[in-house]
Amino acid sequence: MTPAARLRRLYHRLLAAYGPQQWWPAQTPFEVVIGAYLTQNTSWLGVERSIQNLVKNNLLTAEAIRAVPIETLREHIRPSGYMIRKAAALKAFVAFLDEHYSGSIEKLAADSPEVARERLLALPGVGPETADAILLYALHQPAFVVDEYLRRIVTRHGLVHDKAKYSEIQRLAVSSFRRDKAAERPGHYNEFHALIVNAGKLHCGPKPRCESCPLAFDLERPVNITRA
Ligand code: SF4
Repeated sequence: MTPAARLRRLYHRLLAAYGPQQWWPAQTPFEVVIGAYLTQNTSWLGVERSIQNLVKNNLLTAEAIRAVPIETLREHIRPSGYMIRKAAALKAFVAFLDEHYSGSIEKLAADSPEVARERLLALPGVGPETADAILLYALHQPAFVVDEYLRRIVTRHGLVHDKAKYSEIQRLAVSSFRRDKAAERPGHYNEFHALIVNAGKLHCGPKPRCESCPLAFDLERPVNITRA
């Protein structure tokens, strides 16, 4: 069985085990963008606290982020860490939206995914994972999000080598959904990412708990935890 076919099988096994996850936890595309920035290098709990601060102060729109003094913004997002860098990055995102898309997320979503991704990657504080999370969850484009949970699972299962780049893992994941209709792909990418996060949190941490994990059937050999 090819690595792509095995990964597809893991997706179906997780879906059967956990059921549909229906991510991302946000009310609007702009809130997704904020969450994608804030979640870098921190737990989701810290992001939730920051988002609550922004909600309380009516700061969950591009207009509000544009207008708020950066010092105030830093204080509101303090719970998610790296507040200086993240506040500057959020301001830069809104300036980018203004410059290229008249301040409209809808216009960004209507751009070609390739152009939007390239432009997002040129922004401060945006790497491939953040760009793809914005494309997939805020703009509903077929961008597969590769995070540390997925990296850990595919390396432990021997589907890619230990030092595989982001783009290699993404290519593998995309190829496992290549037979799906184009319109179905964003939904599957969305579900798979959420299911992988669940598996990572419940079982596949730095010390894997394979004995209770729904993916253990696919392991070719016991996991070497030096690869965590
Ligand atoms: S916990 Fe074990 S079986 Fe589960 S995904 Fe991780 S390596 Fe695979």
